[in-house]
Order: sequence, then C-alpha cells, then structure tokens
Amino acid sequence: MRVGMPHMGNIYIPFKALFQRLNIDFVIPPVSNQRTLSLGVKYSPEGLCIPFKLTLGNLIEAAELGADTLLMPGGYGICRLGYYAKTQEQILHDLGYNVEMIQVGVSEKKLFGILEMIKHLSNNAPWSKIISAFRFGLTKLNALDKVERVVQKVRARERIKGTANHLFAKAVKAIDRADDYDTLKKVQTEYIDQLNQVAKFTQAQPLLVGIIGEFYVVLEPFSNLDIENELGKLGVEVRRRLFISEWTKFSLFLNPLGVNETDRIHKAALPYLKRDIGGDGWESVGEKVLHAKEYDGLVHLAPFTCMPEIIAQNIMPKTKEVIPVLTILCDEQLAKPGTLTRLEAFVDLLERKRRSKDRQQRVLV
Ligand code: SF4
Repeated sequence: MRVGMPHMGNIYIPFKALFQRLNIDFVIPPVSNQRTLSLGVKYSPEGLCIPFKLTLGNLIEAAELGADTLLMPGGYGICRLGYYAKTQEQILHDLGYNVEMIQVGVSEKKLFGILEMIKHLSNNAPWSKIISAFRFGLTKLNALDKVERVVQKVRARERIKGTANHLFAKAVKAIDRADDYDTLKKVQTEYIDQLNQVAKFTQAQPLLVGIIGEFYVVLEPFSNLDIENELGKLGVEVRRRLFISEWTKFSLFLNPLGVNETDRIHKAALPYLKRDIGGDGWESVGEKVLHAKEYDGLVHLAPFTCMPEIIAQNIMPKTKEVIPVLTILCDEQLAKPGTLTRLEAFVDLLERKRRSKDRQQRVLV
C-alpha cells in the first residue's frame, strides 16, 4: 500500500511526520501548481468548485507517483463535499488508476474515527504507537500555526518586504525536518524570536483585515493567489479564524467547557441565519457580525458555485453590523492582475475610511 493525499497549505507536514513514525509508505504530490489545476479542470465536471478540481489534480499527481490508497477529506454535512471522494475515485478509475479512496471525515466518533483510519493504514500498529505518532503530528501542526500567526503580524510592519515570508519558508522546512519534541520546540521558539526581531515600522498602525470564507480556499494559498501575502505587501495585517490546529481542537476533541469560538460565531449569525447551510456559510455570516467593530474590512473567499458561500454573500449586505466586505470568487479563471487591482482599490477605500474616522474623532475631542 502506498498512501497519497491532496494538499491544503502545510497540512502535509504533520501527516508526513505521522506516516514516517508508523512506517507507512507514502508520497506527497508536488505543491499545487498550474499543472495540478490544469489536470483537475480537465477531468472535473465544469460546474464543480475549485476545491474539487485542485484536489483531483493533486490526487492524479499522487497516483502518477505510485499511490494506490488516497486520502480525501469528506463530510456528512449539507455541502456536496461528502460526494467528492466517491466521484473522484470514479474519475481516477476511468483514467486507468487502480486506486482505493479513503474518506477522511469527522464522524460522531470524533478523534477515535481518525485513529481507526490510521490503524488501518499502518497495518494494525499498536495503539500506543499510533497515539504517540498522532500526538507528534499534532505538535508539528501547532508549531506551524503558531509561527504563521506571528508572520501575519510582521508582514504588515516589516521594513524590508519579503523578510517574514523568507523566515516563514525556512521555519516550515525546519519544522518539517524536526524529529523530536525538543528540536521542534527549539525551532518554534527560534523562528518566532527571529520574526519578532525583524526591522519594522514601529509607528505603523496597519489596517486590520479579516479573511473569512470557505475552509479550503482560505487555507490553500494557490487557490486564492496567496491573498494574505498580497495584503501583507500592501501593509495590511491579516487575521483569520481558520487554522487547522484550531479546527482540530473543536472538531476532534470533546470540549469540556462546551463553548468555543465557533459557537460564538454561530450565535452571532442567528439573527440572520438560523442554521447550518453547509460548508462555512454560517460562519462567514457570523464572523461578519462578530468582527464588524473590530476590523477595518473583510475579504470573503468563496469558491465559484459554492452554495453555502453564495448564501452568505447575499446575507452579508443586509446585516445591521456594517463593515466593508470584498468577496473574491475563486476558480480557475481567477487571475493575478485583476485580483491585485481589486485588492488595492479595497485597501484604498479602507484607508480613506480610517482617515475620515480619525478626523471625526479628533473633532469630537
Ligand atoms: S463548501 Fe463549497 S467549495 Fe467547499 S466543498 Fe462545499 S460546495 Fe465546494
């Protein structure tokens, strides 16, 4: 058995650590690129969303590298994601790849469901080994996300553009290479320190923009033209709720206190949307309501034809909590020059708004 899986940001790093510790034979397809997209688009039904097309491209590339067991996120929710693994398996069979697809999803078994799947992949490794490998993977995931949060802050303030990105790329490689907890901790601390020491414009009060929207396009930079980085270049600090380490906490583990950030977001959305509509549509509405006073603006990332985000996009202008929202529809037609022009215009608008707010406050004083 040789295992392969699609990309989504740096998620391959914790999985790689897990597979290595359990001696699971695996391949990592090339990081998503133009070829991945072309393959996905070529073999997908036209109207499907970009997560389907890009992950299909990744899976084809994994199969080309000899993977015969493919992991694909799935779900039992309202969105069509639940059908993707089956449909992609059929497409791969039609293309002549003899692969078995395993759907990785959160069931009512929560963490135990994932651990059972790992046990199957590892040819029945002992539970103690599985839990230890899973824990190490999770620690890598936390380290990646902790460093990335600092990068989001530094990008907006750095004197030499690109310094934070450069350090982040090095940190990702070092976290990937770390083979024990001590090294991992050291790497995390070292890179956070280096990021904090980057020369910055100390007086800068960057615009604060929240990134909201569908899980995959928020977390896979290739699908959104690396929008966080582009905003950073424009001197904007980006905040996002979606980090896989956070998602893992509330999706896989029982929450003894019963309240988490997602509950708060759902509650905020209630006056406008009373239930889950699949994907992240409910969360997009709730985040707009919740962060309207806190952020200068929101960038809403929505895959073209994604029903949950289309609903959210139509509700957002009607809420009484007001904040500028730029919706970007992500698909294979999304091009850099047009997107950058829209981002620049949006940032311009937010700057003017901030200046006029400051003026009003000075008059009041
Ligand atoms: S939430 Fe939207 S984009 Fe994501 S898988 Fe479902 S339909 Fe596709």
